[in-house]
Amino acid sequence: MGSVELTGTLFDIQGFSVHDGPGCRTLIFLKGCPLSCRWCSNPEGRNPFPEPLYRQIKCTLDGLCVEACPHQAASIVTGKLILDRTRCRSCTTFECTAACCTEALQRGGYSMTVDELYYLIQRDRQYWGSRGGITLTGGEPFFQPEFTAAVLKRCHTAYIHTAVETCGEVPASAIEPSLPYLDWLFFDLKQMDPGLHREGTGHSNRQILENAQWLSGAYSGRMVYRMTIVPGYNDKPEHISRLAGFISSTGGNEINLLPLHHLGREKYPLTGRCYYTDELHVPSQEALLGIREILVSEGIVCYIGSETPF
Ligand code: SF4
Ligand code: SF4
Repeated sequence: MGSVELTGTLFDIQGFSVHDGPGCRTLIFLKGCPLSCRWCSNPEGRNPFPEPLYRQIKCTLDGLCVEACPHQAASIVTGKLILDRTRCRSCTTFECTAACCTEALQRGGYSMTVDELYYLIQRDRQYWGSRGGITLTGGEPFFQPEFTAAVLKRCHTAYIHTAVETCGEVPASAIEPSLPYLDWLFFDLKQMDPGLHREGTGHSNRQILENAQWLSGAYSGRMVYRMTIVPGYNDKPEHISRLAGFISSTGGNEINLLPLHHLGREKYPLTGRCYYTDELHVPSQEALLGIREILVSEGIVCYIGSETPF
């Protein structure tokens, strides 16, 4: 029997990004993330498997998906389409989306081999210019460690610049195989206090901080920290000073602050999730500048939004 070809599960590929690494880049969004950040803007990237995305506004309730589903996961109850998503977890065939004539149901996520992905990647090459390349994001790229390492290796050996954005909540052994092929790393931090970190993301920050310390010795490419500023959660001066102290302790000195936004709100219902984050405010530019002032006073170089020099 032949060996099974390595595949990864993706949920999007986007070209022409200028904010996630040097030059013009192709962003590759991998599915699956160990964290559940309350402010996550890519809820369709959280589950590691493909899933149905349902747009109620397009649904005519004709029941074609109900008839088509071989797992009895879809039903119409009192004028509403109900999906038993626990039955969809292992679905590979998505008869419901094929049957749906209005695109109310669409498949979120698909599998690809390294060769298939590389074929798509290299078609963008002409748009990258001399400095561009690919950025793996998600979801969490190191949640699929073998696939991520294989894609990075394939690109690196073809002289394509490689970047990853990670939340760090994976074993170091999931990151290590990728390091020789990685030119740039965005390392996301959320909160220095382990209890508050758990409150905001569902996990303690222990492994994340350990990985950041370990990478300071293990990784020789450029590593820029990133933090989404969530007012009331991680914007207090004492927290920012603690953040600065941690970054310095890893030998790092750069952070990119990203303001919380609500652009992901509309995607929550597509995946059957509720958006609980409306009460969180978007930070003002003034507040971000105040945070930068603290970081700079502690010796950290701070970029706000798309200011990161690549
Ligand atoms: S994704 Fe699969 S299991 Fe779920 S409703 Fe569609 S066909 Fe049925
Ligand atoms: S097939 Fe499409 S339009 Fe028809 S009930 Fe299902 S989701 Fe709605």
